Amino acid sequence: MRITVLAGGVGGARFVRGVREEVRRRFPDGAGGSEASVDVVVNTGDDLWLAGVRLWPDFDSLLYALAGVNDTERGWGRAGETERVAAELREWGVGWPWFTLGDLDLGTHLARTAWLREGLAPAQVAERLQARWPLGVRLLPATDAEVDTHVLVDDPDAPGGADAPGGGAPTRELHFQEWWTRYRATLPAREFRQRNLGTARPAPGVVEAIADADVVLVAPSNPVVSIGTILAIPGIREALAATDAPVVGVSPIIGGAVVRGMADACLSAIGVQTDAAAVARHYGARHSEARHYGARSDATGAADTTDGARGLLDGWLVAEEDAAEVDGLRADGFAARAVPLWMRDLETSAALAGAALDLALPGP
Ligand code: GDP
Ligand code: CA
Repeated sequence: MRITVLAGGVGGARFVRGVREEVRRRFPDGAGGSEASVDVVVNTGDDLWLAGVRLWPDFDSLLYALAGVNDTERGWGRAGETERVAAELREWGVGWPWFTLGDLDLGTHLARTAWLREGLAPAQVAERLQARWPLGVRLLPATDAEVDTHVLVDDPDAPGGADAPGGGAPTRELHFQEWWTRYRATLPAREFRQRNLGTARPAPGVVEAIADADVVLVAPSNPVVSIGTILAIPGIREALAATDAPVVGVSPIIGGAVVRGMADACLSAIGVQTDAAAVARHYGARHSEARHYGARSDATGAADTTDGARGLLDGWLVAEEDAAEVDGLRADGFAARAVPLWMRDLETSAALAGAALDLALPGP
């Protein structure tokens, strides 16, 4: 059983921990010869160069959480972290004063940057980083290219702002991390722009992980800057459209609100309501009901292939609070189910992963 998960950082890490746990329970090593593996295609859009080092925030969130060395109180970074180096960097005026790099975390960034400078590709660096701990899953950066997401905003420092003479306000591109952390996503985003998409390709192993999977799961991660960036890398959407594996997603929205964080600011920027069904429709159904009937009467399956490229999802899990959406989603071609969607601990995360696997692979 090969399971491939598309994931962002913190929401992604909670979900992947659940998937790992559920897979261990369903496919205990060697039992009945059943083996299972979990590959995680990790968002690289939040990555950046800062203070001379390369940061991979979502990869590190997954790495630390799966290794069990993450700070569970704060929700991000390393447990037992200190910030002595950050205080020195602030004195030197290096980096961003509002973006603290912890000492242990900096060790990761230095190691990563050293290997990049030695000429290793990001996918190879990712392999080295995860070799330190037995993660039980394989983390694959979505791409080796630097696709760092930038946000187009009205320039917050422009005199007069939106009322400046000449009509349109001057705009500025901020790195996503500046928009998110410094401005707490309060500057209205006009557009999200990933860099280098023209030349970016999926990292080695990514297309194979999707093509050869028995199930693909879309974590309840930020649909715009986490999952959206993964999908924007040329070749990944195509791999998802082409895979024989069912593709099932989990809503990051519960009862019309983001569970944690500020993903609603990203959704509104691309004109998608903060609503579980709206996010499903944004991803799109791989097969609408009407197409299904068409495909059934068409022995060549041609209709299926052409339509398969449209949407991403076969199934979508919504929260029990959103159960009223299930019928409408089914009518639109999604296998939909309402289940508890809060990941409070390992138990609830594993139960959610189990529900996603059940929706993807209904029993006999
Ligand atoms: P980030 O990269 O750290 O921002 O994390 P992700 O992109 O992986 O995930 C952020 C999303 O996770 C947010 O939109 C949240 O709504 C969602 N999220 C966080 N905790 C939960 C949870 O317990 N259940 C569900 N369904 N979604 C969650
Ligand atoms: Ca992130």
